Amino acid sequence: MFCYQCSQTAKGTGCTVMGRCGKKDTVARLQDNLIFVMKGISAYNYHANELGRKDESVDEFLTKGLYSTLTNVNFDPEDLISLGLKAGETNLKVMKMLKEAHIDNFGEPVPVDVKVGAQLGPGILVTGHDLKALEELLKQCEGTGVKVYTHSEMLPAHGYPELNKYESLAGQLGGSYTDQRKIFSDYNVSILVTTNCIMPPKEDYIDRLFTMDLVKVPEATVIKDYNFKPLINKAIEIGPLKQEELTTISTGYGLSTILSLAPKIKELVEEDKIKRFFLVGGCDTPNPKMRYYRDFVQNLPEDTIILTLACGKYRFNDLDLGDIEGIPRLLDLGQCNDAIVAIDLALALCDLFDCELNDLPLTIVLSWMEQKAAAILWTLLYLGKKDMLIGPILPAWLNNDILNVLINNYNLSLISDSEADIKRIMG
Ligand code: SF4
Ligand code: SF4
Repeated sequence: MFCYQCSQTAKGTGCTVMGRCGKKDTVARLQDNLIFVMKGISAYNYHANELGRKDESVDEFLTKGLYSTLTNVNFDPEDLISLGLKAGETNLKVMKMLKEAHIDNFGEPVPVDVKVGAQLGPGILVTGHDLKALEELLKQCEGTGVKVYTHSEMLPAHGYPELNKYESLAGQLGGSYTDQRKIFSDYNVSILVTTNCIMPPKEDYIDRLFTMDLVKVPEATVIKDYNFKPLINKAIEIGPLKQEELTTISTGYGLSTILSLAPKIKELVEEDKIKRFFLVGGCDTPNPKMRYYRDFVQNLPEDTIILTLACGKYRFNDLDLGDIEGIPRLLDLGQCNDAIVAIDLALALCDLFDCELNDLPLTIVLSWMEQKAAAILWTLLYLGKKDMLIGPILPAWLNNDILNVLINNYNLSLISDSEADIKRIMG
């Protein structure tokens, strides 16, 4: 544990073994867990609020949850686990609210093949999760000749009809947030970072880097009030990109699209032509162990369907996995907050097969990096989902006591060797 939030802190630097207040290691870690999950909820809640959606019960939970971590308030580990599950429930509400707001504003996503690579003309590269910012930018780019490219978590924007209708939305450059320092250097365009994950910028692109809203790095220009003129002018001043050879990448599998395939999916499952569904996704990280996710997807048997989301998908979304009688084997559901689509889909499949969540042939393999992924993990625990695998490492704020609760109640495990994991799961 490490806590230095009050004046009693050990040696004036931090309680690391036990709190002077009486707080024990497990309680301190469960409080940290709660804070991290609430950070994730706050990010989604913030974006839903921006689109005009609010839920008082979410704000009430965030206030109550934070208060529970104050000095000398809650020393009960069981209650802090319950609060973690309540946080998961709250995150479910928030993701639903954000998804509804996205659909109301931009339509429901439909599958689309996105061009990957530079096209002739001046360009702007947009990264992050904020679709409203992208919409405003696309409006302002119309008629300027500037092409707008998505990066990382902005790729799913192409699936939304009300965003895809803009001619200026040209394609995609690069992959997950981890490649940004290379991609931002390689492509001479102006760059907009709308949310996390920004990395400390390199000097060679700092003069063409723009941020907005809560995202700040020293020396980058901050866009105010959705006035993207400085960003667009910079792109024009830089001049055109050269045409590259283009590839494509698919995204945009919304709930309605997949549910329209439900009768066929049912038939294929009953005929044993689809044996298992996998949700493999989450954050990317530069950790070399992330190679697991490509190996895992690549080695899955051909009678499996893989749902994916968030920027962990760039580990394998260039693979051609083919289809099962017309049903693509790899379906990109969107951003990390689109975990709600995966959840709604799983619940719809439960109805279709008349079974409980844990009886579905569905395995979740979650790659996590930051606190939104922690919020999603606790949402899945709240729903009672068992047998999940997480990686590349276990959250460092868990200790054996907390881990034992997660293993005993949910059979949560750490990823190991991809082939061994597949063998164990497929039986
Ligand atoms: S709240 Fe407790 S554990 Fe934290 S610094 Fe104060 S005495 Fe230490
Ligand atoms: S999916 Fe996670 S790691 Fe990737 S950009 Fe979003 S928050 Fe960052």
